[in-house]
Amino acid sequence: MNSSEPLLIVGSGIAGLAAALACTRARWPVRVVDKVAQLSPVGAGIQLGPNAVRLLDAWGLGAALRQRAVRPRQLQVRSAAHGRVLASLPLGDACVQRYGSDYLTLHRADLQALLLGAADAAGVQIEMGCAITSVAALANGVSATGENGSIFHAPAVCGADGVWSAARAALPAAQAPRFTGHWAWRSLLAPAVWPASLAADGITVWLGQRLHVVGYPVSDPASGGPAYNLVALVEAAEPGGPPAAPHDWSHAAHAQSLLQQVGSASPELLALLHAAPAWKRWALYDQPPLTGPQQMAQGRIALLGDAAHPMLPYLAQGAAMALEDAQALQHCLQAIAPGNAAQLPAALQGYAQARWQRCAQVQARAQRNARIFHATGPVQWGRDAALRLLGARLLDVPWLYAGG
Ligand SMILES: Cc1cc2nc3c(=O)[nH]c(=O)nc-3n(C[C@H](O)[C@H](O)[C@H](O)COP(=O)(O)OP(=O)(O)OC[C@H]3O[C@@H](n4cnc5c(N)ncnc54)[C@H](O)[C@@H]3O)c2cc1C
Repeated sequence: MNSSEPLLIVGSGIAGLAAALACTRARWPVRVVDKVAQLSPVGAGIQLGPNAVRLLDAWGLGAALRQRAVRPRQLQVRSAAHGRVLASLPLGDACVQRYGSDYLTLHRADLQALLLGAADAAGVQIEMGCAITSVAALANGVSATGENGSIFHAPAVCGADGVWSAARAALPAAQAPRFTGHWAWRSLLAPAVWPASLAADGITVWLGQRLHVVGYPVSDPASGGPAYNLVALVEAAEPGGPPAAPHDWSHAAHAQSLLQQVGSASPELLALLHAAPAWKRWALYDQPPLTGPQQMAQGRIALLGDAAHPMLPYLAQGAAMALEDAQALQHCLQAIAPGNAAQLPAALQGYAQARWQRCAQVQARAQRNARIFHATGPVQWGRDAALRLLGARLLDVPWLYAGG
């Protein structure tokens, strides 16, 4: 069965655009649909470990990436309470020496724009303002139904529609996301408001009790100038449990409420939190780690990115896993003849087999980091002692950064 019909990708986030590029690189025509009318610079900063940067380099996007990204000098872990350094890991050239690739930081909107530009250049069709409500397997293909009644037929569908994936329902084994009880508070600081004490050339993580704060330099997607991305990740028992509008990435948030939760902290950290001009917060959802390939693909339907494996951002790898998913998809599609739609289920099965264990490992590690980063009492003392003793050896993640 040969098909010149495009593959359908639901979602034009990092996973969807990367998947679109992967398909075109494997010589499959592709069409992307997204529910939003236009892409907007939502989200916050993103750290890209060497495993992710290596892929973007391989796709020829490295030069454009480096025009927008920052190359932090080091990762430093500090105590939120007294601000002292507990451990540090050199990045920059040291990362290239260890892993053959850079560790970079940038705004999510810039990464999305980079992938969008590459997808446009590759001739990918993108249809905005089209929310898919369901995806169903047919005898020799897949149909996806849009909210406006439109129906798309495709030889295969990739669901890259994020945590609240509509495509996921077509995979009986896939699990629904769960509220973790954690919230991310985000702010972007312009240099004019940076406290004098801020070392804005590296990634800093302040570990507190039931919370941590991460800060690093990025380019401001609006002005193109330097900015400091600040995210506070806080465990809070919200009265009434999960938020009423869980899909919303941008609940307006009052600094006072965050400062109350942080409580007493080092003067440098408090100065930084006070300097942040406006906070947005969003509720964090995840899933238990994947247990098998059937949760990532079945027949002619596959999931990528957060649709497949939503995770806490405590290993800074959600977008990186989406990029790795896309690269694996490309390899599996390249292994079959272009246009041979009969081989697509085998290709998607190969994709899921190649990816599920690594994604599960990353999901589990992110959950473990939540327990370690937010530890209290004796566990916190033990953690801090281990960080002081072992330093970089605890912060480095060779199995992850070396690639999937
Ligand atoms: C605080 C925080 C910090 C993070 N830091 C990092 C980091 O440092 N490094 C890292 O690698 N990752 C990080 N992540 C994770 C990363 O942001 C996500 O994993 C990644 O953006 C997921 O991309 P995605 O394309 O799978 O999903 P999304 O970005 O959610 O994109 C989904 C797309 O699908 C569309 N869509 C949704 N439903 C439908 C539908 N029914 N029909 C059509 N279209 C639909 C949406 O409009 C959207 O465009 C962080 C996440 C958070 C919350």
